[in-house]
Amino acid sequence: MVTKADFVIVNADELATLKGKSDRPQIRKEMSELGIVKDGAVAVKDGKIVAVGTTKEVLDKLDKGFEVIDASGKLVTPGLVDPHVHLVFAGSREKELEQMAVEGVPYLEIKAKGGGMPTTLKKTGEASIQELLRRTTKILDTMLIHGTTTIEAKSGYEMTFQGEIRQMEIIRALSKTHPIDIVPTFMAQGIPFEYENKVDQLTDEIVKKWIPEVVRRELGEYCDVFCEKGYFNVEQSKRILETGRKYGLKLRIHADWLAHSGGAKLGAELGVVSADHLIYTLPEEIEVLVKRGAIGTFLPTTPFCYLGTYAKAREIINRGLPVALGTDYSAADMCESMQMMMTIAILQMKMTTEEALVASTINAAHSIERAQEIGSLEEGKKADIAIFAAPNHKYFAYHYGINLAEKVFKKGRLVAENGRRVK
Ligand SMILES: [Zn+2]
Repeated sequence: MVTKADFVIVNADELATLKGKSDRPQIRKEMSELGIVKDGAVAVKDGKIVAVGTTKEVLDKLDKGFEVIDASGKLVTPGLVDPHVHLVFAGSREKELEQMAVEGVPYLEIKAKGGGMPTTLKKTGEASIQELLRRTTKILDTMLIHGTTTIEAKSGYEMTFQGEIRQMEIIRALSKTHPIDIVPTFMAQGIPFEYENKVDQLTDEIVKKWIPEVVRRELGEYCDVFCEKGYFNVEQSKRILETGRKYGLKLRIHADWLAHSGGAKLGAELGVVSADHLIYTLPEEIEVLVKRGAIGTFLPTTPFCYLGTYAKAREIINRGLPVALGTDYSAADMCESMQMMMTIAILQMKMTTEEALVASTINAAHSIERAQEIGSLEEGKKADIAIFAAPNHKYFAYHYGINLAEKVFKKGRLVAENGRRVK
């Protein structure tokens, strides 16, 4: 049968297809299989992938009249997926980051002295919608330029009723106007200064008023909570997540980031789709997450910047938990690049390059329940494709700290090239 195509990418030194992994998240040894095709090609028609294989196989299938994009010497992968982003905020905290990273001042000490997340809540609350849209668009552009074509985005940087609705509306507006697909999450994140000792009262407001309104306006798909000392405790987190579930939201959780919080255990009990951070999670709690079918999303940025302690990636993968990677882009430290996450995961967390790429594509897609549409190069999926200036995937650890993404396609459209947005 002859296939029609708008364009075809040919001669890729390495085409990492990630094929055959869409039905369930990948675990253990499965995370080492990339479905690599040497001298690979991928053909696209109307925003969808229509053929994948060697250059010869694909060209033999195609009808005439398509554009050819030569990927000689390059690596071609599915568009990267970032399943954990704190997207909408104002202000910046670069001085605090240096205090934490260089002087070793603990985060909770910075917060106790009037810094940290509450300052971001205040600054964000004072910012106009136009300013937030402008800043956030720039972040999304940078992600796209670095090869990321789908993200999950959380609210949580205002923590007032009006503010959180506004955050979710900004996320929705951008999901309609920006090429990046955005999966929206309502998140109970920071504690404003005025609620410092009244977190129960804040929780009351969230469960009685905020979550019902987010759902009434159809602004969220997931509900997430910061279950951590100095934020929401296990009881409060449970109320928030149970309310989210009651209103039809699916669940995620921030767990065991600064210390063992009990968040992963709670997440497992409530059936979260993804439990994120998992730095201090106990082995038996990882086992429960495995049994409940959750995904573990590792976020290497804060350990890289100032915490120093990473999730025990090797042990957790060996226990059979499927693992994804995310940037955790936030006001605490800012990195839009999933390439950088792979670099840290490989060099610091001792994940293999194959595991890191699975965690940044198909498993990240599973983490936001989009694996039937994205995360691999297979016929019928969205033509979200990245071409990297690298002969193979090992380069994510080897040639690091720069942007290797040369061309990025979203739904078959060239949206970034050589570090610039194409509009
Ligand atoms: Zn986070």
